[in-house]
Amino acid sequence: MIDLYSLSPDDLDALLRGWGEPRFRADQLRTWLYDQRVTSFAQMTNLPKALRARLTDETTLGTLRVAAEQRSADGTLKRVYELSDGQLVESVLMPYADDRRTACISSQAGCAMGCTFCATGQMGFARHLSTTEIFEQAAMFATELAERGERLSNIVFMGMGEPLHNYDHVIAAVRRLNTDLGIGARRITVSTVGLVPQIRRLAGEGVQLTLAISLHAANDAARGGFMPVNRKWPLAELLAAVRDYQAATRRRVTFEWALIAGQNDTEAQAHELAALLRGLICHVNLIPLNPTQGYDGTPTDPEQAARFVAVLERAGIPATVRVRRGIDIDAGCGQLKSEVLRRRREGGAQPA
Ligand code: SAH
Ligand code: SF4
Repeated sequence: MIDLYSLSPDDLDALLRGWGEPRFRADQLRTWLYDQRVTSFAQMTNLPKALRARLTDETTLGTLRVAAEQRSADGTLKRVYELSDGQLVESVLMPYADDRRTACISSQAGCAMGCTFCATGQMGFARHLSTTEIFEQAAMFATELAERGERLSNIVFMGMGEPLHNYDHVIAAVRRLNTDLGIGARRITVSTVGLVPQIRRLAGEGVQLTLAISLHAANDAARGGFMPVNRKWPLAELLAAVRDYQAATRRRVTFEWALIAGQNDTEAQAHELAALLRGLICHVNLIPLNPTQGYDGTPTDPEQAARFVAVLERAGIPATVRVRRGIDIDAGCGQLKSEVLRRRREGGAQPA
């Protein structure tokens, strides 16, 4: 079977011409796939019947299979996809009250970075996702939204994996999200643990995406305790790379900070963060910790979070405490994947 989603425009043209089709056929098919977002060949009415039959017999649209899904009371949809080799990854679709529809997608099966508080980090690294496997997570949501007259508007690389560790495939996927789904780079956020050489490379890439840096602590001793990567790329080098990135791209940078009670949520730590970020055009996203099995920290309470925000705002740094979407379904951590694994072990690997 040929996966049509994995073909570039030239590859698709070569395939159809090899089947004896005229030059304009590939454009017609691409219009159905990417503009109309139609997934049934039967609906592609301007293609000859024989071609539709051959496409049905010999091609597929993507390789992801839905292994489980949960819908939250706030409309958040969380999915586990099984990849062709059995690996599992999570994607989340978050609808907002305005027309924004944001997909949170994965870049790797597992993650090699080992952040202590993160469910994916606790699982370890399995493999990089291909460009198509990354793209397809968003394409699936885009198609389903199109069927009810809605549009996928934003993408965040905040699912499983460290996107800049899988640099080439992630950048290729960003370009396809842009050309094939019409999602502008400015509406795509790549969140990184802080891989300095890749941040520097990204600065020269010429894509206008939003860079988010997972900080979580403002001194090396504390950050190294949560995030092993800090021992390789300490804060001074990370912040220097971010400042250069900003100088090159003129883009506002986001910093992420998981608020963990008693660990990184004091007003003194907020002052330390404000000093670290001085002079940067940035925004700080504060996310109360999502508790995971392998880490015994707890989330900061709302009053303390408000005190932390107030310190940052007095220092002129915009900060928001992010509403945790899909809180009733544990969106954003690996628990749905764990559930699928448990069912597999018990021999009943049926989709939810
Ligand atoms: N690997 C990338 C992107 C995926 S994680 C990165 O680390 O940036 C997306 C965000 O979720 C990161 O900011 C990460 O630090 C944060 N995160 C991971 N586990 C979390 C948890 N248990 N509670 C709150 N935030 C968490
Ligand atoms: Fe990997 Fe990001 Fe989790 Fe760290 S927080 S282990 S980089 S997915």
